[in-house]
Amino acid sequence: MTTSTASPITDAPVAGPDDRQLGAFDEVADAVQAAQTAFDTYLDCTLAQRRAFIAAIREESTREENLRYMAYEAVAETKMGNAEHKVLKNKYAATLTPGVEDLLMEAYQSDTGMTTMEYAPYGVIGAITPTTNPTETIISNGISMLAAGNAVVFSPHPRARRLSVWLVDRLNRALIAAGAPENLMTIIRKPSMDATAQLMASPQVQMLVATGGPQIVNMVLSSGKKAIGAGSGNPPVVVDETADIPKAARDIVNGASFDNNLPCTAEKEVVAVSPVVPELVERMVHEGAQLVNDPEILERLRDLLMSPDREHPRPSWVGQDAGTILQAVGVTPDPGTRLIITETSADDPLVQVEMLMPVLPIVATTDASQAIDLAIDLEHGHHHTAIMHSRDVSRLESMARRSRTTIFVKNGPSYSGIGIEGEGFATFTIAGPTGEGLTSARSFARRRRCVLNASM
Ligand code: NAD
Repeated sequence: MTTSTASPITDAPVAGPDDRQLGAFDEVADAVQAAQTAFDTYLDCTLAQRRAFIAAIREESTREENLRYMAYEAVAETKMGNAEHKVLKNKYAATLTPGVEDLLMEAYQSDTGMTTMEYAPYGVIGAITPTTNPTETIISNGISMLAAGNAVVFSPHPRARRLSVWLVDRLNRALIAAGAPENLMTIIRKPSMDATAQLMASPQVQMLVATGGPQIVNMVLSSGKKAIGAGSGNPPVVVDETADIPKAARDIVNGASFDNNLPCTAEKEVVAVSPVVPELVERMVHEGAQLVNDPEILERLRDLLMSPDREHPRPSWVGQDAGTILQAVGVTPDPGTRLIITETSADDPLVQVEMLMPVLPIVATTDASQAIDLAIDLEHGHHHTAIMHSRDVSRLESMARRSRTTIFVKNGPSYSGIGIEGEGFATFTIAGPTGEGLTSARSFARRRRCVLNASM
């Protein structure tokens, strides 16, 4: 994992000649109406124009000063994550999210004519975005949804509100400069539960997309509208005795510490066969992990990081640095520590709960078959992400088949599953619950059958 070393930018890059925030509205109804008006004009734009608009989003998002501002400001506003890793996440969102080229048409031809299966826009989409990837989701959803011909109203997380409004303003300015109608992207300036409920109930909103935890995903799924739910996970990583242990250790530490474990795809627990655990732990420590096995310190960690009922992480500790967490429980971090690891049992709440912080428990099993069974159990049926390090092809196949996760990474860090240092396109909305999988433009389009009848 390479990171940029330039210094952070602390002042917002200049928005434009005026101080309006383009696309931002106080009232939900106004944000929806503005997007609807933009959509009505957008319907008459050509595919070449759409391509130019997507290019404008990519260009604006990847300007060096904007990449750095988004990354550092996201850490400052949300108070979570790692800025240098967020630079990379935004860059991949902007460059690797597919555009109009994702809308591949199918054609059927016979003596009676020709039928094409095309992609048509839904109209105005209501997109609810998370605090863990605030700008990445707006960039990636924005490219996909506009490429499919829609307009979008974003409802950002309240903890990422300021930056999200800034980004929608920047993107609107870039889109308008490229000839797009104003307000193809709008945003609710002061998001709240009530505002999100209004967005979901608006008759003009044709599709809802929730990227977040179970509560918001369940809300959109029970809205009665076409909805895409991209929910939580608890990705296990299995390591068996055939694995390249030094590489597995490096990949796991890189993946689990990436953006302080905020990605829903990041390794959340290791399930390893007993004989490899000592070498795996030693190599992980070599890669920047710090081992904490003292039961008293572990209990202090649980008290600090989890709710009293041990069912949720404490929001204030989500996405914090490993060193900060260690200091808070009275442990001096080793220089360069980026991940806390512990050897524990499967029933430990740190194993069972999606923690979203750089604390990675390791559970030992007797053999690979038991490891796969346990990993599937710990994924809790989210069908989100699983990772395995093994050279045994039949075991890799078995875990892929049985886990039925949306992403299955073999012998790599988790982030290679979303296109970062891995083959394939990028997305920050991974729809396990509703089955679209890694979303792209075609996920946000209706299927239309166009029939040309040539019968005599
Ligand atoms: P969150 O569920 O707290 O918030 C997500 C969004 O939903 C925010 O905009 C929030 O304001 C809104 N929201 C939540 N509950 C609401 C309610 N009752 N009424 C109205 N709006 C509500 O999630 P988060 O902490 O921002 O993000 C982390 C979670 O999201 C993790 O569980 C992670 O796994 C998941 N996530 C999933 C994906 C994916 O693609 N599958 C991507 C990123 C994050």
